[in-house]
Amino acid sequence: MIKKFFDPDYMEKDIFCINYKSLYENNIRGLIFDIDNTVIAYDNFLIDEKTRNLFKELNKKKFMICFLSNNKEKRVLKFSKEFKIYAFHGALKPLPFVLKKAIKYFKLQRNQIVLIGDQIFTDILCGKICGIKTILVNPIKLSLSRVEKFKRWIEKKILEFLNNKRT
Ligand SMILES: [Mg+2]
Repeated sequence: MIKKFFDPDYMEKDIFCINYKSLYENNIRGLIFDIDNTVIAYDNFLIDEKTRNLFKELNKKKFMICFLSNNKEKRVLKFSKEFKIYAFHGALKPLPFVLKKAIKYFKLQRNQIVLIGDQIFTDILCGKICGIKTILVNPIKLSLSRVEKFKRWIEKKILEFLNNKRT
C-alpha cells in the first residue's frame, strides 16, 4: 500500500539534477511542477537566474509545462506570469481533481506526464492517484514550524521503509 501511493518513480536533489533529456527519450512530453519548495523557496518571491534559464531551456526542448500549486491565486499567478507558464492554483493536492484538469490541459496520455514535487503527502500521492509518473525533489527550504517538522519526519520514515524494501 505504501509503495503504491507514496513511492516516487524517481528521486533527485533538485529540479536542476533531473535528467530531462532522458525523460524526453522515454516519451515524457508533459512536466507538471509544484511551485513552493520545488521551484522556489516557500517564503521567497524572487526567481533567480538559474531557475529562469532552466525553464527557458525546457520550453525549447518542446515539453509542455504547467504549475500545479496548493497555494493561493495571487502567488501562483505571479510565477505563472514571470515564467509564462500556465498554472493551476488552489490544487488541494493530494485530491486528484485539479491535477486531472492539468492532465486534460496537456491533451497527452498519462504515461507521457510526470509530476515533480517536494512532498510525499501532497505531490507524490496526488500523482500516484492519477496514475502519472512522479519525481520527488528535496525541499528547497524547510519551515521551522512543528507541524512541518513532524510531516517531514514521517516522510523520512516512509522513504527509509521504501529504501529497505528495495534492497
Ligand atoms: Mg511544495
